[in-house]
Amino acid sequence: DLIVRTRDLTKRYGNFLALDRCNLEVRAGEIFGLLGPNGAGKSTLIRLLLGYLHVTSGSCEVVGKNPEIDSVAVRRGVAYLPGDARLPRHMRGDGLLKFFAQMHPLGDLKRSLEVAERLELDLSRRVAFMSTGMRQKLALAVVFGPRTPLLILDEPTANLDPTVRGEVLNLVLTQRDEGRTVMFSSHVLSEIEQTCDRVAFLRRGELVRRLTMQELFQRH
Ligand code: ADP
Ligand code: ADP
Repeated sequence: DLIVRTRDLTKRYGNFLALDRCNLEVRAGEIFGLLGPNGAGKSTLIRLLLGYLHVTSGSCEVVGKNPEIDSVAVRRGVAYLPGDARLPRHMRGDGLLKFFAQMHPLGDLKRSLEVAERLELDLSRRVAFMSTGMRQKLALAVVFGPRTPLLILDEPTANLDPTVRGEVLNLVLTQRDEGRTVMFSSHVLSEIEQTCDRVAFLRRGELVRRLTMQELFQRH
């Protein structure tokens, strides 16, 4: 039962080949890790899956839909944390969570507030006066709200200190217990290793290996 499937998915920015014939399969109910150094093409791959970028060649299917044809349906079934989440600067944390909970068809303010509390985020502050880490926590509280079948997190632990990172990884594990599928990208092997059922490595736009955690450690 696949929730994401790409076939020879390729993306060029002008002449630059950012993603080269990528074949990826994510199964329903698993935590899937996308590991690769900065610039490997992780965000490009994720944006293609959500229909935010046009495919150069090849194809993909996400929650049973083609994002090139029906990006609205894909986004309804996917909660997405962008790597560069930009949040409205004039809003207070609490107002912002309420706003996003109303925007998404599966929005759930209570869940977002629980996440904010778990991450010890002060919601009375305006985004403009939040640190980078606080903004990341707020973006996480937004994305963990709607209970979509699929959750895609682009570098969810960026800008967070180790304790909070651990908390985020625990949140990811909780989602799997709820029967959701999680795909998340990271350039930190230890995070992927602690959390994921399977992992794919991206290097300069090429998917170099798909392994289970067990296979990964048998080779070293
Ligand atoms: P990652 O998420 O793994 O850090 P990205 O997908 O953001 O990688 O980027 C992959 C490569 O594509 C990088 O070399 C980046 O500079 C390039 N790139 C990303 N977006 C664009 C764009 N809009 N135009 C041109 N090059 C881009
Ligand atoms: P850094 O200076 O990069 O934060 P650390 O020694 O704090 O280095 O952590 C090394 C790596 O181990 C980090 O990149 C982080 O992803 C991971 N890590 C550390 N603590 C935890 C934790 N409690 N839970 C999950 N991952 C952790």
